[in-house]
Amino acid sequence: MQGKRGWGLMVFAMIGVVLILCLMDGAGRQAVPISYGDFWQMAEDGQIESVILGNGDTWQAVLQDGTQAVTPNPRSADGKERLLALDIDVKEQENALPPLALGLIALGAVALLSRSRGKGALGLQAYASIHADERIPDIGFDDVAVSDDTMRNMRDLVSFLQKPETYKRYGARCPKGVLLYGPPGTGKTLLAKALAGEAKRAFFAMSGADFVQVYVGVGASRVREVFKKARAAGGGVIFIDEIDAIGKKRDNGNDEREQTLNALLTEMSGFSGGDGIIVLAATNRLDTIDPALLREGRFDRRIEIGLPDYEERLKILRVHARNKPMSENVSLENLAHQTALFSGAQLETLLNEAAIRAARREAGRIGPEDIDEAFCAVTVGEARPGNMSESEKHITAYHEAGHALMTHCMQPDARITRLTIIPSSRGAAGYAMSVQPDRLLHTKSQLTAMICAALGGRAAEEMLLGQENVTTGAASDLKKAREIAAAMASEFAMGETGDAAKDQQQIFQSAFDCTRACLRDNRERLDRLAQALMEKETLLEQEIDQILTS
Ligand code: ADP
Ligand code: ZN
Ligand code: MG
Repeated sequence: MQGKRGWGLMVFAMIGVVLILCLMDGAGRQAVPISYGDFWQMAEDGQIESVILGNGDTWQAVLQDGTQAVTPNPRSADGKERLLALDIDVKEQENALPPLALGLIALGAVALLSRSRGKGALGLQAYASIHADERIPDIGFDDVAVSDDTMRNMRDLVSFLQKPETYKRYGARCPKGVLLYGPPGTGKTLLAKALAGEAKRAFFAMSGADFVQVYVGVGASRVREVFKKARAAGGGVIFIDEIDAIGKKRDNGNDEREQTLNALLTEMSGFSGGDGIIVLAATNRLDTIDPALLREGRFDRRIEIGLPDYEERLKILRVHARNKPMSENVSLENLAHQTALFSGAQLETLLNEAAIRAARREAGRIGPEDIDEAFCAVTVGEARPGNMSESEKHITAYHEAGHALMTHCMQPDARITRLTIIPSSRGAAGYAMSVQPDRLLHTKSQLTAMICAALGGRAAEEMLLGQENVTTGAASDLKKAREIAAAMASEFAMGETGDAAKDQQQIFQSAFDCTRACLRDNRERLDRLAQALMEKETLLEQEIDQILTS
């Protein structure tokens, strides 16, 4: 969403967007914390199947027996290499929606943003060395889709880069430092590179994290070296990714960082801008940047790169569809609608996943079914069959059928696009995915309907197994239902008594009662749906509709 509105208003900005609602049913397992030492021991013993690296406090690992574990993130640069050498499947977190995000997407958008913003999953995109990239990049502005505003700003910079003497002659002060900030995966790196490409100038990339982690003791001299090179090349774009790593507010004095930062500040005050050098830096946490960096003559231009809105998502999808054989049945407009809150990187991943699927089938073109599967893979995780007992399958089938039936009864204009009881790589036992219609406002009864849809899983379990035997699979459903009820009771004042706590309880309880009653009245359809799910494991929109409407 656009920054002008501010992050806090996200919930309201979200309304009026087509939402994909995914009721994901974790088995309620918590990740087990393991110490860093144990982690490597287990890695070497072959007990670890895969690891998700990110820039957060922890690495997430999946053990061979399927257990999810977390271990402290050492933030060292060779972690990935070591893991790969041990044949462990390594994923980087950047392109994945946080697993929780989907369940919360409807009302918890704020929570999602603060997670992804705080974490900065940029992680280990290590620039092996700063010498790596000093050619003129072969991409330009056609390869990046950002807001018109941002693009105007960037076009300005092109002419500064191309004709610095002209500006100098007129006594204009050229911009020196531009700080790009916003959530990960929104195209900051890409934009910096495209700027150099568009202006036909050399591109020098380095990452703040490298200075602190890799080049211990040499940060400052590396900075000087890069500026020297840029001058020798007759100008260009110097890009400093993750500048927060060196430009953090000075806390308890990290010498290495101080020196690197000082070298950077000195270099930046040393050139006149008329040299044809522009320094671009990127961060996803503007709030932690040392104010010294933001002063006049340093990074005094700031451009926010927010999550793309509908039009921008469509543009991004078009950019990445350009080199792919899309079937004409694929509607990028539709897809842009369905991908609210996706970053550019996630959109790119989605299309890439679809292309991989089409290639695997040797289908000739990328069809809607490839897009659909890719969407699931990116959001909920890859299907990971096996690993479920017959009775777990039975329960999960009823649970998902419960969601579907409640969605069908209470949200007649929502489409139920997919039900599955195949466990996913993100730890879901199954899920029910629906596409919600475009709405500007939500009524009280529509919100209640959302609660009922969320509670359909637990209510179906109850009916099948009795109160005593319900499972932990409904944890995230219950949380979500409570969150909606809480918002209704407080923010939207939709309760009866005006006492928020009491109202929340009442709204929740009556929705639960209504859900139980509705499932009881439709028991036969519920059975049929669950039966079909057990047989086929995944049901798509048409099959679901057929069962629900017959
Ligand atoms: P950031 O630096 O903001 O984290 P990146 O520039 O590294 O994001 O984006 C990663 C990839 O995602 C890009 O290489 C590109 O393929 C895709 N991408 C992200 N944002 C955009 C965008 N605005 N337009 C086109 N592609 C994008
Ligand atoms: Zn559920
Ligand atoms: Mg980047």
